[in-house]
Amino acid sequence: MQLPREVIVGDGALARIPDVVQRLGLKGSAMIVVGPKGYEVAGKKVSDLLAANGISADVVRVETATIKDVTFVEEQIKAKKPSVLFGVGGGSKIDAAKLSSAEQGLPYVSVPTTLSHDGIASPLASVKGLGKPYSVMVQAPLAIIADIEVIAQAPWRSVVSGCGDAISKFTAVRDWRLAQADKDEYYGEYAASLALMSARLVMRNAELIRPGNEEGLRVLLEALISCGVAMSIAGSSRPCSGSEHLFSHALELVCHPTAMHGEQCGVGSILCAYLQGANWRRIRDALREVNAPTTGVGLGVGDSDVVQALEMAMSVRPERYTILHKLCLNREGCERVARNTGVIS
Ligand SMILES: [Zn+2]
Repeated sequence: MQLPREVIVGDGALARIPDVVQRLGLKGSAMIVVGPKGYEVAGKKVSDLLAANGISADVVRVETATIKDVTFVEEQIKAKKPSVLFGVGGGSKIDAAKLSSAEQGLPYVSVPTTLSHDGIASPLASVKGLGKPYSVMVQAPLAIIADIEVIAQAPWRSVVSGCGDAISKFTAVRDWRLAQADKDEYYGEYAASLALMSARLVMRNAELIRPGNEEGLRVLLEALISCGVAMSIAGSSRPCSGSEHLFSHALELVCHPTAMHGEQCGVGSILCAYLQGANWRRIRDALREVNAPTTGVGLGVGDSDVVQALEMAMSVRPERYTILHKLCLNREGCERVARNTGVIS
């Protein structure tokens, strides 16, 4: 089990980077993997703080998290030989840092600038070009440094997406329990409770999660970090990714939506909670409360895309047993679920 050794959360958390570096005993040089926006809001400051404390840092810019980006970062690691990598940005830059550092046997520090999903603290990375539309186990961050002042500058939609990803743990954990009951799969009570607690925390504090309220951002940040820790404890994405995530991955294969990961998982969670016989209305209402989409229209996709994605979701990952694998719905069944939950009209 790999867990982060330092988690620093709060206003001005970036300023504590030198202390963290010292406590972790990091020596030599560092490398910062960052996009243009992330450099502006946090990367430059990280670089300056490291330099002021005698650690030179090479800045490697990436735009996306494709296998090409990861290979590029790995080449930079081989050339510059840093002793630690900092992933600064939203999901993709952190994923690129996570995978390239793991491949090169280096620790990495996660410095999130948005709260769009739980990858900011998880040991998994989602990288395009690996031949898998879902996340793969890589390595947990050595440290997480999350500055609320920085995160507050991100587009509000990323916060909505993060809420959707957190709320979707309700169906993920139910699927995990189902896999234990039907397939005798390993089920970790502690990891499952941690993931569920994160979902509950976001739902209970939904009224705080509003633009301009840093307290709400802190709630979401802590929930997403707990999700990452739950996955580290479980040794897989199981506590945080079930049928609703398979729906989201399938939707991407079906129609390349412009919606964000957590928005798609939220809608998937409504559909899958219905199939699980769970209180799907509660999930829908919680998503509404944080202004997250609850319909195909809200995701900007067509009714037929929703139905097709739900039908193909189980084949995205046949080995990850969920309610979809148990029920094996046909097209008509999927359409009925989507209509009954109001996801399509
Ligand atoms: Zn997710």
